[in-house]
Amino acid sequence: MLKIESIVIDGIEVKFKLYPALVLENNIRWKEGIIEFHPTKKSIEDNSWQEELKTYFRKNKDFCLNYSGEAIDIKNKHFYLFGEKINFEIIEKINEFIFNCEKIDVLEKSFNSLKLLERFIKNFCEQRLFRYLIYRTTELENLLKVEKRNKIILKKFNSYWGRNSFTQNTIEYASRLFPFSQEIIDSIIYHELVHCFFPHHKKDFWNKLYNYVSKEKYELYSNKLYFGVFN
Ligand SMILES: [Zn+2]
Repeated sequence: MLKIESIVIDGIEVKFKLYPALVLENNIRWKEGIIEFHPTKKSIEDNSWQEELKTYFRKNKDFCLNYSGEAIDIKNKHFYLFGEKINFEIIEKINEFIFNCEKIDVLEKSFNSLKLLERFIKNFCEQRLFRYLIYRTTELENLLKVEKRNKIILKKFNSYWGRNSFTQNTIEYASRLFPFSQEIIDSIIYHELVHCFFPHHKKDFWNKLYNYVSKEKYELYSNKLYFGVFN
């Protein structure tokens, strides 16, 4: 496990992990509030990696600073659903945790462990997401006048947000979409449905997509998805 380090950039403490220099080109990515930096050998030798890290942070500062954190945060007693932060209460008793969340109409529900409580919230959120995806996909299929997909599936995708599978006539969505606002989720649904016209990501595809979500908004939402800004 790599140590999480921090550096002060323009007065802001920024967390990062410095990976061993192995690659030809440096590679910076943002993951769960931490900048993961794979430097080049050269940038370690001439010590320019710090400047590269700073440049990346400054370029993406707004998104980095608005990072929403864990979608389900048991320690701080909140979770996100459709871009909304929902607070809850846990009363700890002997071998028991009592969960109260007025917002979702769950009162005095007992769990044997926090792990089970977390699973309950996750299932709840994923069910809500699934319901929304079914309803909204149908609505947008009508709007775009595309043939109705046979099936909508929630999947544990780590590298995709959605996938339109033509051979099976299904659309798969990532279950980790639940904390994001409905506008952000809609941008994914539009993206997948526009694939019914164009199976690629060439110019025609984007032109069509930007009829429904402006380029500016689409790029903003893509960044929010990437940086974990839920609303
Ligand atoms: Zn695509």
